[in-house]
Amino acid sequence: MFISIQRKIQKALFHWRLRGFQTRELPTAPTDIQLEPTVRCNLHCVTCSRDTVIGSYKKTDLELCDVDKILSLFPHLKSVKLQGLGEPLLHPQIAEMLRMFKDRNVRV
Ligand code: SF4
Repeated sequence: MFISIQRKIQKALFHWRLRGFQTRELPTAPTDIQLEPTVRCNLHCVTCSRDTVIGSYKKTDLELCDVDKILSLFPHLKSVKLQGLGEPLLHPQIAEMLRMFKDRNVRV
């Protein structure tokens, strides 16, 4: 008897919480993204697939105008992780790129 009542309460709480979840405002766009600033790299790690993959790449560096477009596409952006098939710090305009994120209060 007690277990039955306890299960009914748990079930009611589950549905009550679910209802709150559905009506809660959800972000319209991701708040955390990953970007590949460049595919340039000064290393040749044996486990890296970079050499085989970048043959199909038309550009090696992400342009600042592309970063600007990305920032406009993600208005709720809180953080960006710079990574990919290259060393992000080898991007020729990495300082300007970091400043763009800092100006928007985006954690890098
Ligand atoms: S991209 Fe990363 S894993 Fe690949 S060679 Fe450079 S440092 Fe090594």
